[in-house]
Amino acid sequence: MTDSIDLSIPRVIVCIVCPNGCRIHCEGTEDGVRFTGQKCKRGESYAAAELTRPMRSLTTSVRTAFAEAPVVSVRTDGEVEKSMLQEISSALGQIVVTSRVKIGDVIAKNICGTGVNVICTSDRLVHPY
Ligand code: SF4
Repeated sequence: MTDSIDLSIPRVIVCIVCPNGCRIHCEGTEDGVRFTGQKCKRGESYAAAELTRPMRSLTTSVRTAFAEAPVVSVRTDGEVEKSMLQEISSALGQIVVTSRVKIGDVIAKNICGTGVNVICTSDRLVHPY
């Protein structure tokens, strides 16, 4: 059960934790929220988080200073609040990578104060061809 959530209209959340994709019905009760339809406990945790503080990973690319590889792919090394995705995307839009980074190298530390780093996911700058 979870409380402090307005569920005057019941919601259905599709769990994305595993490929089963359970449809979890979230219904307000006097005691909080009742979750039904999930096949396991992880689904209830996921639905509760979606209702209160949805989190996401971000995968995107940033510009580089190298003509043979003008962009390089990156991702967050953890989840950030979904509400921060636009701000993080804008911050990454200001970045130009000027060194030949490789997979796992940190591109932006503690992006937008989230405590999460943005790391490189490609060796394109060390093996451009
Ligand atoms: S509720 Fe459990 S079984 Fe269903 S999709 Fe989520 S993790 Fe998978």
